[in-house]
Amino acid sequence: MKIEITNPEKIIYPKQKIKKIDVVKYYYEIADVMLPFVKNRLLAVIRCHGGIGDECFFKKHPTNDADVCQRFFDGDEEYFFVKTKQEILGQVQMGTLEFHTWASNVENLEKPNMMVFDLDPDEKLPLSKLRDAVLKLKSVLDDLSLQSFLKTSGGKGYHIVVPFKACGGWENFYGFSKQIALLAEGKWPNIFTTNIKKSARGGKIFLDYLRNNRGSTCVAPYSLRARDGGGISMPIAWQDLPRIKPNEITIKNYQKFQTNAWQDFFNIKQKIK
Ligand code: ATP
Ligand code: MN
Repeated sequence: MKIEITNPEKIIYPKQKIKKIDVVKYYYEIADVMLPFVKNRLLAVIRCHGGIGDECFFKKHPTNDADVCQRFFDGDEEYFFVKTKQEILGQVQMGTLEFHTWASNVENLEKPNMMVFDLDPDEKLPLSKLRDAVLKLKSVLDDLSLQSFLKTSGGKGYHIVVPFKACGGWENFYGFSKQIALLAEGKWPNIFTTNIKKSARGGKIFLDYLRNNRGSTCVAPYSLRARDGGGISMPIAWQDLPRIKPNEITIKNYQKFQTNAWQDFFNIKQKIK
């Protein structure tokens, strides 16, 4: 693989003195395990040309620059995606730090297959309560005989990801995720809220199922975050929930935390009944 990296010494994470070349090395090392989760999915990326201290932008459409990527039309809108490790690194060369994906693949755009529940805690909520809530939501999924997977967000919370067979349409998929969220909120109204308004959060966790909508995105497994600390949205094992904080795994320490906890992910063919 050959890819030219410009400005390798540019500082991307100022506090940790992490340079562009370090970001490239991270994605180079992780690309093989990351690729199955991002390839052939429409992307939105966060680019920070001058590092995270500078202006960053959320990008959903390709530009006519040197972008190495696959282009895709959805109606009048042009989107992009990657198919290879080289294209992941091409994104990184263009300043991409975060990779966000759709819940479906381009081969099957109308049949989503990756459901995400994002648990967003109120700022003052202790981590123990957040972890307890993660397990409560898992128990709802368990009761429905749905196998689910856990990742850190690399920021403030955790994400629970549920793989599905690409069989139903968006309406069913989104509707089902909403029913699950409402079920959890109904069971534990003092813990969860499905109301997006910050004012409704007071001491609760916003259970965000809205990312399961057509055109919405969620940060991909193994993506870096464009935030201080260089956190990673890292797949972890359920039994590690009590010992791994949402922003604990970073570009500096991720090697210690790599597990095979998600190895079954693509073997699971769950259906929405
Ligand atoms: P945390 O644990 O800190 O909440 P997170 O990944 O769950 O991390 P955000 O980064 O705030 O939370 O998630 C933003 C969500 O909104 C993602 O699903 C992302 O794909 C989507 N999104 C839509 N538009 C934007 C935008 N302009 N900038 C950033 N994210 C956007
Ligand atoms: Mn979140």
